[in-house]
Amino acid sequence: MKTDKIPIASLTPEELTEALKLAPSFRGKQIFRWLWRGVLDFEKMTNLPLTEREELAGKAGLTTLITETHIDEDSTVKLKIRLADGLFIETVLLVDERGRKTACLSVQVGCGMRCAFCRTGLMGLKRNLKDYEIAEQLLHLLSLYGRIDNIVLMGMGEPLENLDAVRGAVGIFHHPEGLGMSLRRITISTCGIVSGIEELAGRGPHVRLALSLVTADPSLREKLMPVTRQNPLDRVKDALISYQRKTGRRITLEIVLLAGVNDRPRDAEYLVSFARGLKVVVNLIPWNPASDLDFSSPSGEEVARFKRMLEEAGFNVTERYRRGRGINGACGQLMVIQPDLRNLRLEARHESF
Ligand code: SAH
Repeated sequence: MKTDKIPIASLTPEELTEALKLAPSFRGKQIFRWLWRGVLDFEKMTNLPLTEREELAGKAGLTTLITETHIDEDSTVKLKIRLADGLFIETVLLVDERGRKTACLSVQVGCGMRCAFCRTGLMGLKRNLKDYEIAEQLLHLLSLYGRIDNIVLMGMGEPLENLDAVRGAVGIFHHPEGLGMSLRRITISTCGIVSGIEELAGRGPHVRLALSLVTADPSLREKLMPVTRQNPLDRVKDALISYQRKTGRRITLEIVLLAGVNDRPRDAEYLVSFARGLKVVVNLIPWNPASDLDFSSPSGEEVARFKRMLEEAGFNVTERYRRGRGINGACGQLMVIQPDLRNLRLEARHESF
């Protein structure tokens, strides 16, 4: 794959005009509009002069390539995407009963948070994605499947560990000349990085925020999610309160249910005290099986029992459908074996001799 092309996916109309040295200046806006309608080939941008289209195709474009497409019986799509340096990520498209489409984007190659129940954590962190690599995932989905209704940054990686790139991509998704995606339809999901939540409260973007709480029992959470050590729950809560003050939005508390681990009555009690003073909705996610990880999924009855406990305590509770399980595309199941980059570089060196 050619890697020296100018990446265009995260550029605004004005930045496109400048980066591609376009005249007249409205060309940037024309290209931006095509891109965010899902037309990715300059050749098909019919309101540009023919010679210019050819020239642009040679010097600018996307940096990533879809190498595999998996489609589950429930219509969930998982794309395996190759980055310019040879690493891989995965991107998921979820379609609900009403046909609404949610793009689930990755923000890092792998993840450094090492939550005990998550398969992506097994990969470790390889690197952060660039803003254009996040934006390109959505461009691929748009060009293949058309309109996207919601965007969740819940794929591989921790968004608040790569906030600048996330901010760049979200700004583009929100841009009125393109998708004009409302910030209410964009969700950042975090394992609870205090400084990141504070920065989000201060500088935005003021998207919907979901906290992967899992449990509000401090000692259990520390065991399951090592991030808790540097980011204790009382400080996470303070940061959420200031985010809520700024945005007025309800915060989603995501709870991956691990049978017999975090579905005890005391977990419900801890949750009550954590949520005091916050406006929240609780989202239960029965654990999706991941090979090499030693947990088990709760039965329907067990989920219902925990859900009842929370509802009796006054919570608004939703249950996340298990979409994408058939293709390892559900929450916590994303993982790609990465090529050995040292070997790749060696090959590249051989080629150039
Ligand atoms: N790093 C971010 C976003 C990625 S994880 C975060 O932690 O929020 C997206 C969601 O999947 C999180 O709520 C996480 O707790 C959940 N999850 C991880 N592993 C899972 C599994 N095996 N089954 C179900 N949900 C899982």
